[in-house]
Amino acid sequence: MARIRLEGVSKQFGTAQVVREVDLDIADGEFMVLLGPSGCGKSTLLRLIAGLESPSSGRILLGENDITRTPPRQRDVAMVFQSYALYPHLTVAKNIGFPLRARRRSKDEIRERITTVASALGLQDHLDRRPAQLSGGQRQRVALARAMVRDPGAFLMDEPLSNLDAALRSATRTELIDLHHRLRSTFLYVTHDQVEAMTMATRIALLNNGTIEQVGTPTELYDTPRSTFVAAFLGAPP
Ligand code: ADP
Ligand code: MG
Repeated sequence: MARIRLEGVSKQFGTAQVVREVDLDIADGEFMVLLGPSGCGKSTLLRLIAGLESPSSGRILLGENDITRTPPRQRDVAMVFQSYALYPHLTVAKNIGFPLRARRRSKDEIRERITTVASALGLQDHLDRRPAQLSGGQRQRVALARAMVRDPGAFLMDEPLSNLDAALRSATRTELIDLHHRLRSTFLYVTHDQVEAMTMATRIALLNNGTIEQVGTPTELYDTPRSTFVAAFLGAPP
C-alpha cells in the first residue's frame, strides 16, 4: 500500500495552472525524489502534501486516510525546512522540541524525544547552544531533528541542501542516505539537481510544467527515457 497517494491533484493560482492532474504513489520506506526545472511546480506539490496549500481538485491520501482537507498540524508528515528557518533565539534543544511543545505533549515526553533524536544525529553535545553557534552542517541536522522529533509517517524536503557549499552539500547528501537507511521512513525530496536525484533516489518522479513526465528508478529514467524532455533533462543520449 502506498504511504502517500496523489489522485488527479491540480492546483491553480488565479489563471495559472501550476499542478495538472498529478497521480503519484509513494511507497512506504521509499526515497522518492521529485525532480524538475525551476518553476515546474515541485514546491507547490510538496506544499499540497504538507497542507500548506489546498488543491483546486483531486485527492491526497496518507496511508488509508484522505488528508485532502486535514489541517497541516494534524497531518502525519514533517517538512524539513532549510537550516535558516531555525528559531535563532531558542537553544538547539528548544528548536528540536518545538513541534511537540506546540502539540502540548508532556515535558517528560518532550525531553525524552529530544535526547533520542539528538543522539541519533550526533547533536547531543550541542543542545544548549543557539543556532548561530553551530556550523552549517550542524544547523541542517537540527532542522532534520526538529522534523524527526514527532516520528512522522513521511519526511518532506524542499531543496534542503541548496544553501550549503559544495563540500557540505556532498557530505550532507551521504548523511541523508544513511539516515534514510536507519529510519526506514518515507522521504519525499524536492530538487532541480539531477546529480542529487541520481545518487539519492530509490525512484525519481520527473516533473515538467506541472505534469509528471516519468516515474521510475534512476536507471530506468536514464536508460529508457519516455520523452526527449526526460532524456535531455537527465543528460542521457537520445
Ligand atoms: P518549483 O518549486 O518547481 O520551482 P513552484 O512550485 O515554486 O516551482 O512554482 C510553480 C509556479 O507556480 C511558478 O510559476 C510560480 O511562480 C507559481 N506560484 C507558486 N506559488 C504561487 C502563489 N502562491 N501564487 C501565485 N503563483 C505561485
Ligand atoms: Mg521550489
